[in-house]
Amino acid sequence: MPTAQSIKEEIEKHRSEIYKKDYTFFEVDTLYKCAVCVEHESSECAECASMLDDMQALAAEYPRMLNNGSSGRSEYEKRLSKYLEHLRKAHGYTRKGFFQPVYMALGLVVGLLAGLVIGHYTACMGVGLVAGYIAGAVRDRKAEKNGKTL
Ligand SMILES: [Zn+2]
Repeated sequence: MPTAQSIKEEIEKHRSEIYKKDYTFFEVDTLYKCAVCVEHESSECAECASMLDDMQALAAEYPRMLNNGSSGRSEYEKRLSKYLEHLRKAHGYTRKGFFQPVYMALGLVVGLLAGLVIGHYTACMGVGLVAGYIAGAVRDRKAEKNGKTL
């Protein structure tokens, strides 16, 4: 079975075959980060185990895809988002810094609703925003500490 290490080596081997900016833009590093998480879960998840094979293949094919115009690029992005989606849904992983903006938006809405009830819109929304900012940071830190971020 492929490992995160063998996938990383394969990615590195083909790195010079694509433009440097494409490597950053298409988040090829994310493929490796996913591989680490998928390998970690693969002992207890059949889908992760089978995804490792798919990732190893993608690590060899990605330059061809990224150099192949929009159809190849969308194929690459589809494969990558499939891994991210599975890690998120089945194993509770999130992107780094995912929670803070979500909680801030939520705090704003709660503040707005509170403003509707008790008045003082600006103050209520301000409090909601700050509370969301803090709660989101706490949640993000917790996810990172648990190794559940990508
Ligand atoms: Zn899995």
